Amino acid sequence: MPLSTFHGPVLPDGETRTLAVVDGRITYDVPAGAERAAEGWIVPGLVDAHCHVGLDQDGAVDEETTEEQAVADRDAGALLLRDCGSAADTAWVHDREDLPRLIRAGRHIARTKRYIRNYAHEVEPAELNEYVAREAQRGDGWVKLVGDWISREEGDLAPSFPPEAFADAIRTAHEHGARVTAHCFGETVLPMLIEAGIDCIEHGTGLSTDLIDTMAARGTALVPTVMQLNNFPQYAEAGEARFPAYADHMRALHARRREVIMAAYDAGVPIYAGTDAGGVLPHGGIAGEVLELADYGIPAEDALGAASWRAREWLGWNAALDEGGPADFVVYDRNPLEDLSVLRTPSRIVLRGQIVG
Ligand SMILES: [Zn+2]
Repeated sequence: MPLSTFHGPVLPDGETRTLAVVDGRITYDVPAGAERAAEGWIVPGLVDAHCHVGLDQDGAVDEETTEEQAVADRDAGALLLRDCGSAADTAWVHDREDLPRLIRAGRHIARTKRYIRNYAHEVEPAELNEYVAREAQRGDGWVKLVGDWISREEGDLAPSFPPEAFADAIRTAHEHGARVTAHCFGETVLPMLIEAGIDCIEHGTGLSTDLIDTMAARGTALVPTVMQLNNFPQYAEAGEARFPAYADHMRALHARRREVIMAAYDAGVPIYAGTDAGGVLPHGGIAGEVLELADYGIPAEDALGAASWRAREWLGWNAALDEGGPADFVVYDRNPLEDLSVLRTPSRIVLRGQIVG
């Protein structure tokens, strides 16, 4: 099979180059006899930094459905997925050359009866450490906690665990070499987690200016899942009859979501794009998430970087398409920095050096 070359401006620097793929790796030393496979704007493989592979609204799904989810992400250009919690064991995806690279956080860890049914290990504070240690070893370097959820007693969002249990959990995960992230909608849980040194916050709609400054100083990441935040009014409506205070709270969080996320962006908190696909939302939506981040007011370069080179660097993959790096990239007909909507229609998708779309 002849070697393939790709030609065009390579983001993020935009320098026009010709690259070839040899043994799944990138080279700019193009061998003689290589054939041009595509021309266009070449972008490091997109990243969905918060999705759920092997999960749907009812819990774990079978392998066939898991494969369909991963293929939908891949075909949207998302070639590196940070799975933010799955009830299914999806380690087998690592062995599939045709599916995106997957970084698993194991299974969510939540408080008993305080999360979506069939999703999480539901535990009491005394058991938290044991489960964190187990998921840290089972996953790919991340542990996912459910930071807050509706408490039936309080009728509103409440932290899942006491502050000292969260602090112990974060310490335990770090001792096992895993980073920790947590689902957080409300305000109260955030200081407990951020002060204990959590690595990332998911959603983050309850962030205050003080906490944003702490996150910026520490480099704590934020994956706001801005498409998911659009569903808050629905969640409020669903809870209205039994939990009116919760419903009001969710509407208030929804009303100031743009202000909060943009305050974090302006303060320098590292923000990454995550679709939250796999629960309520469908897979393959990374372009929509980038467009929504841009709609908040994040400049195109940072909105795309949040789903490409910056996210790759954060997750330990090559940030730029360097000589010798893995050949994971997407080619577009137009400059995405001038028109992000082109992300919806990749012209070529290359994963591990193979043209997959
Ligand atoms: Zn999620």
